[in-house]
Amino acid sequence: MQPTLFLSHGSPMLALQDIPARDFLAGLGGELARPDAILVVSAHWETAVPSLTSTAAPETIHDFFGFPPALFALTYPAPGAPDLAARVADLLGDAGLRAALDPRRGLDHGAWVPLLLMWPAHDIPVVQLSIQSALGPGHHVQLGRALTQLRRENVLVLASGSFTHNLRALQRSDAGAEPEWVTRFAEWMDTAIMARRMCDMVSYRRLAPFAAENHPTDEHLLPLFVAIGAGGEGAVPTRLHSSTDLGVLRMDAYRFD
Ligand code: ZN
Repeated sequence: MQPTLFLSHGSPMLALQDIPARDFLAGLGGELARPDAILVVSAHWETAVPSLTSTAAPETIHDFFGFPPALFALTYPAPGAPDLAARVADLLGDAGLRAALDPRRGLDHGAWVPLLLMWPAHDIPVVQLSIQSALGPGHHVQLGRALTQLRRENVLVLASGSFTHNLRALQRSDAGAEPEWVTRFAEWMDTAIMARRMCDMVSYRRLAPFAAENHPTDEHLLPLFVAIGAGGEGAVPTRLHSSTDLGVLRMDAYRFD
């Protein structure tokens, strides 16, 4: 059985910078049982209906600006998996979620940066699934629930977002201590995850301290709900990593088994 993962991808510079989250991801690929294929859910592909990359050769999308040329030179030429894309569309359809196949879309940096660190040989087929920001956490738990079967088919559901994500508050150096509004939110969310309080998690914008400060919009937390849903009823959460980048970006990661 594959676990499901929630990973924080932080800044695109994660691919190049020597920070604890990079070390963690670089070691994670070798610690996991090798999957036959990976279904990546990234915060950076937002669509009205769940959409799947269905190309056999997804391109690497450099969906960021103002970063060094070395970052634009990186590619992740993993094969796609059109059969898996069709299979996932069927699973979503069975759950009453109409899905679309997109033969042109490639992998955005929320997908390829963690994959590059985890499996640099890019030899495991990858399909990306979009999020629907307008539909909120509950929809994404349902989206994940429809994918639980994939765990038994040796497909890894890898959800990539950011545990906290206020880009306006980014600090250029990590010299300052993490602000209390970041710590308190992260502690609340971690407690809810570990206690499996689904109702609290889904209502986090109303219940969690400093929710709107940490997630002015919630697209970077929505992949977490897919990972939780895809883990299935009774999945046991484990926190794999916790660190902070650029002062306010929590890089926490979880697995659900
Ligand atoms: Zn991002």
